[in-house]
Amino acid sequence: MIKIIIATSNPHKLEEINKINTNPNIVFDVVKGEFNPDENGKNFNENAQIKAKEAAKIMKTYCLADDSGLCIDALEGAPGIHSARYANTQEEKIEKVLEQLKCVPYDYRTAHFVCSMVLVDAQGNNVHSEEGRVYGYIDDKAKGTNGFGYDPIFFVPEYNKTMAELPEEVKNKISHRAKALNPMIDWISNNIIPNLKD
Ligand code: IMP
Repeated sequence: MIKIIIATSNPHKLEEINKINTNPNIVFDVVKGEFNPDENGKNFNENAQIKAKEAAKIMKTYCLADDSGLCIDALEGAPGIHSARYANTQEEKIEKVLEQLKCVPYDYRTAHFVCSMVLVDAQGNNVHSEEGRVYGYIDDKAKGTNGFGYDPIFFVPEYNKTMAELPEEVKNKISHRAKALNPMIDWISNNIIPNLKD
């Protein structure tokens, strides 16, 4: 069995990661205490590396960081790596996006969520990265109460619902986080667990 520390202060992330993970040999936990690294990378992968290395300094074990966000084509990829800081509250972030897109017709409201995951070892060396994406459209109003963040305005055409209207089990199968985490779990199972000493 291996315990992997998730480099996050966002409780929704640990919750989602625990629900996506079906491998009983991997247990996830979060960084103990205050964790607020300066996410000043140029892209999702750089920010994930910053968070994972910072967590390894504190926890001195394998650490996994997830950096994620929403990229809207009509806004040239914004809010992108600034998704968490796009406005003060989540309601304001959603309102800001809807306002920016108010003259943009549905066909041009394409967007995707990205999740970049980086695993580092106890010394902070990069050992593996994965990226997952889910594609959709930005709806013209917020709908649904599941999930978090921009889920209420992210319309998933295959289900004809926003991400926040989808049951949690469905989001956890199709999400950017699931698409990064599942191959990451397979990689850990094949490359780290067999080499662990008891
Ligand atoms: P991070 O904590 O720096 O990775 O910032 C991620 C931000 O992107 C969150 O605060 C949300 O605003 C947004 N985000 C990431 N993943 C999701 C998701 O699954 N649903 C909705 N919003 C998300």
